[in-house]
Amino acid sequence: MADRDGVIWYDGKMVPWREATTHVLTHTLHYGMGVFEGVRAYKTDKGTAIFRLQEHTDRLFRSAHILGMKMPFDRATVAAAQKAAVRENNLESAYIRPMAFYGAEAMGISAKTLSTHLIVGAWKWGAYMGEDALKHGIRVKTSSFSRHHVNVTMCKAKANGNYMNSILAHQEAAIDGYDEALLLDVDGFVAEGSGENIFIVRNGKLITPDLTSALEGITRDTIVQLAGEIGLQVVEKRITRDEVYSADEAFFTGTAAEVTPIRELDNRSIGEGKRGPITEQLQTMYFDAVTGKSAKHAHWLSLV
Ligand code: PMP
Repeated sequence: MADRDGVIWYDGKMVPWREATTHVLTHTLHYGMGVFEGVRAYKTDKGTAIFRLQEHTDRLFRSAHILGMKMPFDRATVAAAQKAAVRENNLESAYIRPMAFYGAEAMGISAKTLSTHLIVGAWKWGAYMGEDALKHGIRVKTSSFSRHHVNVTMCKAKANGNYMNSILAHQEAAIDGYDEALLLDVDGFVAEGSGENIFIVRNGKLITPDLTSALEGITRDTIVQLAGEIGLQVVEKRITRDEVYSADEAFFTGTAAEVTPIRELDNRSIGEGKRGPITEQLQTMYFDAVTGKSAKHAHWLSLV
């Protein structure tokens, strides 16, 4: 990842990719106190466009606010930096990673005297779990790791340190031969995947867990809006793992994972054990929106 051509936006300047480094005593590297985003740009007929740039930028600032991190740049600059990172790396489609982190001025728990830095990287990244996963669905295992308790960390912040929990869960599922983990909250109710929100379909209705301990996903919001457009009822409520076992369909949503069907949970096939018709319809609508094929969603796209 580090050894490649290209540029990274770093504290207001474009820096050659290999030179976009930081000191080993960088505070965030030691303690995980940082915030980031995962954003995608897609090729459209009008040129490359970032999907829901404003919402991602707003969430980055919200995450920083929750952690009490002072952002060194304003929203307009951070939005422009994301466009520039795609443009200046000549990317037709891209995954974009803005991150704010503390500097190396001091060690110890206090972040009071630290500077905040901001980077934006962008690179080509295809289907997160592969094209086959989008078409045929994935096999998921309920994790032995619980999702964070709301008073252990800040679940509404997309914070670096939160992802140790995601990595542990994903690693465990992958070692056992599954594609992804499903994390339950501390009360045993379904929360989310390691980097995705979850939906199930039951009797023609879409059901998704409330956001107590899950990240407020932008793809989740997109799916809720798209479902509304086709008259699909969306219910937000606590769900149990056995409701997922007996669902007609299930899928994960996320910027990286897009709309990934779940064909199996804990070795029980879900519905017919393949991508279901409602999942497929919403997935098609999602890809039409992100690639500029549906004119009514043009307001979600920002040309780079
Ligand atoms: N939950 C977690 C833990 C995530 O990391 C992500 C990815 N950002 C999501 C849900 C989905 O969020 P979004 O749709 O905004 O990418």
